[in-house]
Amino acid sequence: MNETCIFCRIARGEIPAERVLETDNVIAIRDVNPQAPVHVLVLPKTHVAGMLELPAEDVTWNRLIGTVQEVVRVEGLVNGFRVVVNQGSDGGQTVPHLHLHVLGGRTLQWPPG
Ligand code: 5GP
Ligand code: ZN
Repeated sequence: MNETCIFCRIARGEIPAERVLETDNVIAIRDVNPQAPVHVLVLPKTHVAGMLELPAEDVTWNRLIGTVQEVVRVEGLVNGFRVVVNQGSDGGQTVPHLHLHVLGGRTLQWPPG
């Protein structure tokens, strides 16, 4: 755990967030600044700085994807959705704790900016 990381603090319950789903290892929260009618962040409860810090074989990846699938179900994203990881400065990452954006509820444009 990271004392000052905002997502670690949310995972610990020190900062409020609207939780869509929660398992032992993963939480799904609504983004405070939503970019689509559904904008949920799926993140590990333990601190992981980004994609490159989580080995490909780590079971956390399966748990994250499983939670994404469950978010899609409970949010009723029957027409589709987008999953995004913004990684590093070029990727536009602003919170250095791994999280998957799940966006849906409208037609999304491509390519991103
Ligand atoms: P990034 O830019 O790192 O890919 O995504 C970080 C996301 O976290 C942004 O979409 C931002 O709106 C969201 N965010 C930042 N601070 C908070 C917060 O305190 N609570 C919630 N629910 N979302 C946050
Ligand atoms: Zn963290």
